[in-house]
Amino acid sequence: MITGASRGIGAAIAAAFAREGATVVLSSRKQAGLEAVAERLNAARPGCAVPMACHMGRTGSIGPFVEQVVERVGVPDILVNNAATNPYFGPMLDLEWAAWRKTFEVNLEGPFELTRQVGKRLIDADRPGCVLFVSSIFGLRGAPGQGIYGMTKAALVSLTRTLALELGGHDIRVNALAPGLIETRFSQALTAIPEVVEAYHARAALGRHGQPEEVAGMAVTLASAESGFMTGQVLVLDGGYLLS
Ligand code: NAP
Repeated sequence: MITGASRGIGAAIAAAFAREGATVVLSSRKQAGLEAVAERLNAARPGCAVPMACHMGRTGSIGPFVEQVVERVGVPDILVNNAATNPYFGPMLDLEWAAWRKTFEVNLEGPFELTRQVGKRLIDADRPGCVLFVSSIFGLRGAPGQGIYGMTKAALVSLTRTLALELGGHDIRVNALAPGLIETRFSQALTAIPEVVEAYHARAALGRHGQPEEVAGMAVTLASAESGFMTGQVLVLDGGYLLS
């Protein structure tokens, strides 16, 4: 199950899992966007993609949503918490509480509730599982102008480590991805500013920003049996930006 799967990194992750033979539940707020992605994936392998909308900021609706998923495809054994929002760009001291609350609801409370709902069912069924959180390099460094977003992404790193310890005994692995600048609709606010892009390219070892497909491969790798001894880790995919 992949949240934020209607476009960008989530859609690329869904396509990568579908290519590997998984049945993928695609989730985001808008059913229409999910249907479009599902149509593409199902054209390649009929029945592999199941579009099911759920708003990650409405924690009360997540339990019933997971119940519907279980009825339709069973308990997901791989969960990718990818959906996020970033409604406020600006200095921390000027923030509005509404933006703080929305960011924390969608980026932190929703992913936690979804992980709890799936995790409890995996434990009840005595089945192994893999949870991925999509954090950000802004969860690992200061994030001037994107401070609230950065706080939620840093909290996901802490959540990854704690859940890895608490769920490891149930054979549920929990890891996080921390992408740098990736070309998506989400990052348009940044990629539309040439100086921001140039500064990123100048600092990154690879001299460029990334594409969603370059994050998707690592999600599949982390969920595979070949990564069976890895848990509680944060993998940075930033083209070498944080190195310098
Ligand atoms: P994107 O292309 O804008 O996609 C965002 C996805 O999240 C969409 O499928 C959107 O679909 C869904 N979504 C938004 N609000 C939601 C909500 N309240 N509930 C459920 N789904 C919601 O963004 P992206 O760049 O791929 O970002 C994916 C993840 O990567 C995010 O966690 C982001 O923080 C992280 N990230 C991105 C970058 C970057 O440079 N792009 C860098 C570091 C980390 P609907 O509109 O249908 O809801």
